[in-house]
Amino acid sequence: MSDYQVIIVGGGVAGLSCAIYTGQAGLRTLVIDKGESQLLKVKQIRNYPGLSPETSGEEWMHTARAQAESAGVDFLSTQVERLVLDRRPYEVTDQSGKVYTSEFIVLSVNLGFDLLENHGINLGINRHVPSKKIRYVEHANVEGVTGVPGVYVAGLLAHVPSQTVIAAGQGTFVGVQIASEALGRPYMWHD
Ligand SMILES: Cc1cc2nc3c(=O)[nH]c(=O)nc-3n(C[C@H](O)[C@H](O)[C@H](O)COP(=O)(O)OP(=O)(O)OC[C@H]3O[C@@H](n4cnc5c(N)ncnc54)[C@H](O)[C@@H]3O)c2cc1C
Repeated sequence: MSDYQVIIVGGGVAGLSCAIYTGQAGLRTLVIDKGESQLLKVKQIRNYPGLSPETSGEEWMHTARAQAESAGVDFLSTQVERLVLDRRPYEVTDQSGKVYTSEFIVLSVNLGFDLLENHGINLGINRHVPSKKIRYVEHANVEGVTGVPGVYVAGLLAHVPSQTVIAAGQGTFVGVQIASEALGRPYMWHD
């Protein structure tokens, strides 16, 4: 049996959004994150529908992490160094050399795209972001589907525009897709 059903590499906006849903669906989920979300730089998120414009990026991250934790998600604060994506269960190795196995992998590293380049994953420049500093994973679609079964891409790497609400929504969509696939029925969370 693999260590986890879902490992999310990169717990920024999209990774946390995904984790809240896979955790709530009852899937054993691990988020590995090195603490460098772009959102941490934002003093006020004024363009997230329904969110108080006083909310800072740090507050958003804190609340989303608490939601994921209360859904049973595990967290590891470190950098992922190595991925094995050519056999299932997939493997993720952290900075200390510890290896974790999982049936599903979500790649949501945004600016940490060197990890993907080092593993031969082809990237392009995200044309929705004027700075040209943001990448996307070629061969993945906006749903985050990569063509490798069980391996998804989330957030700006899925070639979406740079708004937080879009990254969160796309990450949520990935979480719902994984939950549906793992449970064998369309997953829906309505309170
Ligand atoms: C200066 C600035 C201002 C912004 N202002 C706004 C705004 O006002 N409104 C708005 O809607 N959006 C704003 N944004 C955009 C917003 O921050 C992004 O849309 C959002 O963060 C993208 O989410 P993401 O999950 O794709 O990436 P991120 O949130 O950046 O998350 C990526 C995560 O991957 C982790 N990671 C990377 N590599 C590794 C690795 N090897 N191992 C482990 N973890 C790894 C990082 O620690 C990070 O937490 C702003 C961005 C910047 C830079």
